[in-house]
Amino acid sequence: MCIFCKIARREERAYVIYENEKAMAFLDINPLSKGHTLVIPKEHYENVLEVPSDVIKDVFEAIKVVCEKLRVFNPDGFNVVSNVGKQAGQVIMHAHIHVIPRYRDEGENPIKFGKPIEIDLEEVYKALV
Ligand code: AMP
Ligand code: ZN
Repeated sequence: MCIFCKIARREERAYVIYENEKAMAFLDINPLSKGHTLVIPKEHYENVLEVPSDVIKDVFEAIKVVCEKLRVFNPDGFNVVSNVGKQAGQVIMHAHIHVIPRYRDEGENPIKFGKPIEIDLEEVYKALV
């Protein structure tokens, strides 16, 4: 069983700050900022794209509650992000969404998407509609 499944079943220790029927939120063990939290579906799905709508509903409700709770630290913004697949940086193969409070006085912002590429948007658009 994966580590996040164990946390969901309370078989592994974590700083759980919120849960509802289908989702759970706990502090990231290697926080990128004060209050960095992970929100997971309690059931195992490999990534967020695999999570059914009824479960996603609870996951997003949990994200909103977590952001409200994190206001105690007076953040200036949040990154709400999920890595899907190894190439995108996903290490734990149990769906999770990072909630990372951001502070004006932080140093370097660790969430970077890199430089924009040169590409014909018309071509991209036509392939997608
Ligand atoms: P990702 O790279 O999106 O798969 O992120 C996985 C995250 O899980 C990382 O930020 C880790 O610090 C975090 N993590 C790994 N193990 C644990 C754990 N036992 N409790 C809390 N967070 C964890
Ligand atoms: Zn799991």
